[in-house]
Amino acid sequence: MSLASFEAALPALLADVARLVRVESPSADLAAVAESADAVARVGAELLGDQPEWIELDGRTHLRWRLGRGSRRVLVLGHHDTVWPIGSLARHPFEVRDGVLRGPGCLDMKAGLVMAFRAVAALDDADGVTLLVTGDEELGSPSSRELIEEEARGCRAALVLESADDSGALKTERKGVSLYEVLLHGRAAHAGLAPEQGVNATIEAAHQVLAVARLGDPAAGTTVTATRMESGTTSNTVAASGRFAVDVRVRDAAEQQRVDAAMRALRPVLDGAGVEVTGGPNRPPLSADASAALLERAVRLADRFGLGPVTGTAVGGASDGNFTAGVGTPTLDGLGAVGGGAHADDEHALVAELPRRTALLAVLLGDLLAEPAADGPPAMATAEGGRP
Ligand SMILES: [Zn+2]
Repeated sequence: MSLASFEAALPALLADVARLVRVESPSADLAAVAESADAVARVGAELLGDQPEWIELDGRTHLRWRLGRGSRRVLVLGHHDTVWPIGSLARHPFEVRDGVLRGPGCLDMKAGLVMAFRAVAALDDADGVTLLVTGDEELGSPSSRELIEEEARGCRAALVLESADDSGALKTERKGVSLYEVLLHGRAAHAGLAPEQGVNATIEAAHQVLAVARLGDPAAGTTVTATRMESGTTSNTVAASGRFAVDVRVRDAAEQQRVDAAMRALRPVLDGAGVEVTGGPNRPPLSADASAALLERAVRLADRFGLGPVTGTAVGGASDGNFTAGVGTPTLDGLGAVGGGAHADDEHALVAELPRRTALLAVLLGDLLAEPAADGPPAMATAEGGRP
């Protein structure tokens, strides 16, 4: 297991990434996701010498490799669905040019999946590794969340294959996410003949949007953002109903709970109006203390094996790493490809980084597995077990 061996295997790695990118897998298209799972299963089975278990939940296809017969110690976590609709491949074909890899989902995260297969395959002994590849991450993991949490629970580490940022930094902190829908109930009336007989849901919405906006706390890293909104029916009718969505991002679980309580305490301002709040916390935060020890380990190993430099960074976006951290499992994210433009037209991965990052994943896995099993998972502070 040396960097040179991963360098030598680069053409084969790229060929496997091409196989995965060429099977489009938008999360909401269940048949496409199943077809993609088939491609991932083939590539994985070839490299690992082991067939995955197929786990279908609510029609969504996930794959799990539990390697060896010992207790589960390290979870390697990825997803094979993408945000790209069918047909994207025609406009953004797979290509490798000038050291840059392109194609829908190449960075997020089909390259990462092949890197994981190669890193695990390179281990002298992969006993204790669970490799989980889900099919609905881009939707917020509605069907796979419990599976992810169950696999992560008790593991000494969860290594997540989302991409590093464009500078190559690993993702050591991700904000938690809560999503709400605020419904306003009023009473319709003719806006010209008898507006005073109505209860205007549009005005109630205005009051509530401003109330919600005041819940943010920039110093604490908490953002509360009213987003999509609609109200009323016609231009000459007092709006009988309205609704708006709220996106909440938090750095710690206490903030997530504070905002949740405040959202549920919203009360109507207008006489006769009603306010109803649905939704709640979606992903708990991945806090810096969930990843600190693993980052330190990665930096040390990268240094020792000449794979550095390795740094960490905090990001606003959430991933399935939020769930693994939420159940108290030390989590390091961003261990996939290095590149940029995730979810955007210029999505790309840097080819030169692929062998180095695959080697980093391999040495990190080897180091984690080498620890005596009796130690159990390293202790870590966790906020409320992350079960909102
Ligand atoms: Zn992703």
